[in-house]
Amino acid sequence: MLQEHKIKVLISTEELQKRVRELAQEISRDYANRELLMVGVLKGSFMFMADLIRYLDCDVEVDFMGTVSYGDSTESSGEVRITKDLEQSVAGRHVLLVEDIVDTGLTLRYLLDTLRNRQPASLKVCALLDKPARRRVRANLDYYGFIIPNAFVVGYGLDYAEKYRGLNYIGVLEDPGS
Ligand code: 5GP
Repeated sequence: MLQEHKIKVLISTEELQKRVRELAQEISRDYANRELLMVGVLKGSFMFMADLIRYLDCDVEVDFMGTVSYGDSTESSGEVRITKDLEQSVAGRHVLLVEDIVDTGLTLRYLLDTLRNRQPASLKVCALLDKPARRRVRANLDYYGFIIPNAFVVGYGLDYAEKYRGLNYIGVLEDPGS
Protein backbone atom coordinates (compact mmCIF):
# COMPACT_ATOMS: atom_id res chain seq x y z
CA MET A 1 0.00 0.00 0.00
CA LEU A 2 1.22 3.43 -0.89
CA GLN A 3 1.87 5.30 2.34
CA GLU A 4 2.19 9.04 2.33
CA HIS A 5 2.66 9.27 6.09
CA LYS A 6 4.96 7.65 8.58
CA ILE A 7 2.96 5.11 10.57
CA LYS A 8 4.23 3.56 13.78
CA VAL A 9 2.71 0.24 14.87
CA LEU A 10 0.75 0.63 18.09
CA ILE A 11 -1.16 -2.69 18.16
CA SER A 12 0.11 -5.56 16.03
CA THR A 13 -2.02 -7.95 13.98
CA GLU A 14 -1.35 -10.74 16.49
CA GLU A 15 -2.38 -8.61 19.48
CA LEU A 16 -5.53 -7.49 17.66
CA GLN A 17 -6.60 -11.00 16.72
CA LYS A 18 -5.92 -12.37 20.21
CA ARG A 19 -7.95 -9.61 21.87
CA VAL A 20 -10.81 -9.77 19.36
CA ARG A 21 -11.03 -13.51 19.97
CA GLU A 22 -11.18 -12.92 23.74
CA LEU A 23 -13.92 -10.32 23.31
CA ALA A 24 -15.90 -12.70 21.11
CA GLN A 25 -15.65 -15.41 23.77
CA GLU A 26 -16.89 -13.00 26.44
CA ILE A 27 -19.78 -11.82 24.25
CA SER A 28 -20.70 -15.39 23.29
CA ARG A 29 -20.91 -16.31 26.97
CA ASP A 30 -22.98 -13.24 27.88
CA TYR A 31 -25.46 -13.72 25.03
CA ALA A 32 -25.60 -17.50 25.10
CA ASN A 33 -29.35 -17.59 25.66
CA ARG A 34 -30.37 -14.44 23.85
CA GLU A 35 -30.63 -13.46 20.21
CA LEU A 36 -28.03 -10.81 19.60
CA LEU A 37 -28.31 -7.94 17.14
CA MET A 38 -24.92 -6.41 16.48
CA VAL A 39 -25.01 -2.87 15.20
CA GLY A 40 -21.78 -1.73 13.59
CA VAL A 41 -21.00 1.95 13.32
CA LEU A 42 -19.69 2.71 9.84
CA LYS A 43 -17.28 3.08 8.49
CA GLY A 44 -14.53 2.49 11.00
CA SER A 45 -15.92 -0.63 12.68
CA PHE A 46 -16.34 -2.81 9.60
CA MET A 47 -13.14 -4.81 10.01
CA PHE A 48 -13.43 -5.23 13.77
CA MET A 49 -17.05 -6.30 13.37
CA ALA A 50 -16.17 -8.82 10.65
CA ASP A 51 -13.47 -10.45 12.80
CA LEU A 52 -15.58 -10.35 15.95
CA ILE A 53 -18.44 -12.13 14.27
CA ARG A 54 -16.13 -14.81 12.85
CA TYR A 55 -15.07 -15.74 16.39
CA LEU A 56 -18.58 -15.58 17.92
CA ASP A 57 -20.20 -18.72 19.10
CA CYS A 58 -23.80 -17.54 19.49
CA ASP A 59 -26.71 -16.56 17.23
CA VAL A 60 -26.19 -13.11 15.82
CA GLU A 61 -27.78 -10.79 13.31
CA VAL A 62 -25.99 -7.72 12.01
CA ASP A 63 -27.00 -4.26 10.92
CA PHE A 64 -25.14 -1.00 10.43
CA MET A 65 -25.48 2.68 11.16
CA GLY A 66 -23.46 5.40 9.54
CA THR A 67 -22.46 8.61 11.24
CA VAL A 68 -20.36 11.62 10.45
CA SER A 69 -19.18 14.11 12.98
CA TYR A 70 -18.36 17.53 11.73
CA GLY A 71 -14.90 18.94 12.13
CA ASP A 72 -11.59 18.57 10.35
CA SER A 73 -10.08 15.18 9.69
CA THR A 74 -8.46 14.58 13.08
CA GLU A 75 -10.61 16.67 15.45
CA SER A 76 -14.29 15.88 16.01
CA SER A 77 -16.50 18.92 16.52
CA GLY A 78 -19.03 17.05 18.59
CA GLU A 79 -21.86 17.55 16.14
CA VAL A 80 -23.08 14.15 14.97
CA ARG A 81 -25.33 13.28 12.05
CA ILE A 82 -26.74 9.88 11.03
CA THR A 83 -25.94 9.15 7.37
CA LYS A 84 -27.31 5.60 7.33
CA ASP A 85 -29.95 4.21 9.61
CA LEU A 86 -30.75 0.63 10.59
CA GLU A 87 -32.79 -1.56 8.27
CA GLN A 88 -34.61 -3.24 11.11
CA SER A 89 -36.39 -2.25 14.28
CA VAL A 90 -34.45 -2.65 17.51
CA ALA A 91 -37.57 -2.63 19.70
CA GLY A 92 -37.42 -5.60 22.06
CA ARG A 93 -34.04 -6.75 20.68
CA HIS A 94 -30.77 -7.34 22.52
CA VAL A 95 -28.53 -4.79 20.84
CA LEU A 96 -24.75 -4.58 20.96
CA LEU A 97 -23.37 -1.40 19.44
CA VAL A 98 -19.94 -2.00 17.90
CA GLU A 99 -17.66 1.05 17.66
CA ASP A 100 -14.14 1.40 16.31
CA ILE A 101 -12.94 4.00 18.79
CA VAL A 102 -14.37 6.16 21.54
CA ASP A 103 -12.62 9.49 21.74
CA THR A 104 -14.65 12.45 23.08
CA GLY A 105 -17.58 10.05 23.57
CA LEU A 106 -19.98 12.39 21.77
CA THR A 107 -20.74 10.02 18.87
CA LEU A 108 -21.39 7.17 21.26
CA ARG A 109 -23.62 9.32 23.47
CA TYR A 110 -25.66 10.40 20.44
CA LEU A 111 -26.05 6.84 19.15
CA LEU A 112 -26.98 5.46 22.56
CA ASP A 113 -29.61 8.17 23.06
CA THR A 114 -31.00 7.46 19.58
CA LEU A 115 -31.14 3.70 20.06
CA ARG A 116 -32.46 3.87 23.62
CA ASN A 117 -35.44 5.87 22.35
CA ARG A 118 -36.33 2.91 20.15
CA GLN A 119 -36.73 0.69 23.21
CA PRO A 120 -34.42 -2.28 22.75
CA ALA A 121 -34.66 -5.08 25.34
CA SER A 122 -31.02 -4.37 26.21
CA LEU A 123 -28.32 -2.10 24.85
CA LYS A 124 -24.58 -2.58 25.35
CA VAL A 125 -21.44 -1.18 23.80
CA CYS A 126 -18.33 -2.88 22.45
CA ALA A 127 -15.51 -0.60 21.31
CA LEU A 128 -12.20 -1.79 19.94
CA LEU A 129 -10.28 1.25 21.15
CA ASP A 130 -10.82 3.56 24.09
CA LYS A 131 -9.00 6.90 24.04
CA PRO A 132 -10.00 8.36 27.42
CA ALA A 133 -7.66 11.39 27.38
CA ARG A 134 -10.04 13.53 25.35
CA ARG A 135 -13.34 12.35 26.81
CA ARG A 136 -15.97 15.08 27.02
CA VAL A 137 -18.96 13.01 28.11
CA ARG A 138 -19.11 9.88 30.23
CA ALA A 139 -18.96 6.69 28.23
CA ASN A 140 -19.68 3.33 29.74
CA LEU A 141 -18.04 0.64 27.62
CA ASP A 142 -19.35 -2.84 28.40
CA TYR A 143 -16.58 -4.40 26.30
CA TYR A 144 -13.41 -2.77 25.01
CA GLY A 145 -10.32 -4.05 23.27
CA PHE A 146 -7.52 -1.65 24.17
CA ILE A 147 -7.03 1.62 25.99
CA ILE A 148 -4.80 3.81 23.86
CA PRO A 149 -2.91 7.07 24.45
CA ASN A 150 -3.97 10.38 22.98
CA ALA A 151 -2.76 9.93 19.41
CA PHE A 152 -4.46 9.75 16.04
CA VAL A 153 -4.60 6.12 14.97
CA VAL A 154 -5.27 4.45 11.63
CA GLY A 155 -5.64 0.95 10.26
CA TYR A 156 -7.92 -2.04 10.86
CA GLY A 157 -10.88 -0.04 9.53
CA LEU A 158 -9.80 3.37 10.77
CA ASP A 159 -8.85 6.02 8.26
CA TYR A 160 -7.10 9.28 7.77
CA ALA A 161 -8.89 11.13 4.94
CA GLU A 162 -10.24 7.72 3.78
CA LYS A 163 -6.76 6.16 3.60
CA TYR A 164 -5.18 3.32 5.60
CA ARG A 165 -8.40 1.45 6.49
CA GLY A 166 -6.92 -1.74 5.02
CA LEU A 167 -3.91 -2.03 7.32
CA ASN A 168 -4.18 -5.15 9.44
CA TYR A 169 -2.68 -3.42 12.49
CA ILE A 170 -3.39 -0.23 14.41
CA GLY A 171 -0.80 2.43 13.78
CA VAL A 172 -0.15 5.95 14.93
CA LEU A 173 -0.11 8.49 12.19
CA GLU A 174 2.86 10.66 12.85
CA ASP A 175 2.41 14.32 12.14
CA PRO A 176 -1.04 14.12 10.43
CA GLY A 177 -0.91 17.82 9.65
CA SER A 178 2.05 17.46 7.28
P1 5GP B 1 -15.91 10.76 19.34
O1 5GP B 1 -17.30 11.20 18.99
O2 5GP B 1 -15.83 9.75 20.45
O3 5GP B 1 -15.00 11.94 19.59
O4 5GP B 1 -15.28 10.14 18.05
C1 5GP B 1 -15.75 9.03 17.48
C2 5GP B 1 -15.31 8.91 16.05
O5 5GP B 1 -14.22 9.77 15.70
C3 5GP B 1 -14.80 7.50 15.84
O6 5GP B 1 -15.85 6.62 15.55
C4 5GP B 1 -13.83 7.70 14.69
O7 5GP B 1 -14.53 7.65 13.47
C5 5GP B 1 -13.28 9.10 14.91
N1 5GP B 1 -12.00 9.05 15.62
C6 5GP B 1 -11.72 9.41 16.89
N2 5GP B 1 -10.42 9.23 17.19
C7 5GP B 1 -9.87 8.71 16.07
C8 5GP B 1 -8.53 8.28 15.74
O8 5GP B 1 -7.57 8.32 16.53
N3 5GP B 1 -8.35 7.81 14.47
C9 5GP B 1 -9.36 7.74 13.55
N4 5GP B 1 -9.06 7.25 12.35
N5 5GP B 1 -10.62 8.13 13.83
C10 5GP B 1 -10.86 8.61 15.07
